[in-house]
Amino acid sequence: MKEHTTAIVLAAGQGKRMQSKVHKQYVLLQDKPVLFYALKAFEDSFIDDIVLVVGKDEEEYCRKEIIDKYGFKKVRAIIEGGKERYHSVAYGIKAIQWECNYIFIHDGARPFISREILNRVFEQVKKNKACVVGMPVKDTVKIADEAGFVESTPNRARVWQIQTPQVFEAEVISEAYSRLLTEEMRLLSEGVTVTDDAMVVEYFMKLPVKLVEGSYQNIKITTPEDLEIARSFLQK
Ligand code: C5P
Repeated sequence: MKEHTTAIVLAAGQGKRMQSKVHKQYVLLQDKPVLFYALKAFEDSFIDDIVLVVGKDEEEYCRKEIIDKYGFKKVRAIIEGGKERYHSVAYGIKAIQWECNYIFIHDGARPFISREILNRVFEQVKKNKACVVGMPVKDTVKIADEAGFVESTPNRARVWQIQTPQVFEAEVISEAYSRLLTEEMRLLSEGVTVTDDAMVVEYFMKLPVKLVEGSYQNIKITTPEDLEIARSFLQK
């Protein structure tokens, strides 16, 4: 039986750290917008459908300047995102009104998602229900206290830097996000900041989340230096 897969591609961030008037997902990388590359990777893969989550009033622009212009056929919905990344993900999940067994959640600001990573994480999610792509850190990581002093030093061999896609059985991630929205106020009052999807599953579903190797090239375009690095990857 064929498993149906949907990718939610997130492009509703403001990109404030980019210090640019153009949102980072639309900045050009070798004459194509950053967002083009992630969409192209999913379009050329086994993924069946794509939900694209964009900023307020950007749906038309995206449809015309990216989807139609580059002929993407798998984008089944373009929706408006929310205030925080987790709101955008929750709206993306809600938009999936078709048969879907696995959901791949990906930052539109990560242009270098490869076929190998997609295959690797898909194989793993069939066994583990919840997977995140990441890489072991290269630098030593310190946990700081509130005053800016070192509180502890985790064993570097066990510390991973997390990337996307984060991939889940559809029922697992839908349930986790619906609980998150119900309990959002409580979490906020406890000072919990939701920065990725696996966290939501860890917190509400108590399921083990499998770490799957991504690549050191699978960077997120966040600051102007990242654009320079991305351009050098593309020149290779
Ligand atoms: O802000 P951050 O770098 O963590 O964003 C990661 C991804 O999530 C980006 O692709 C960004 O466009 C997206 N995002 C979103 N909605 C938000 C915030 C971020 O879709 N409210």
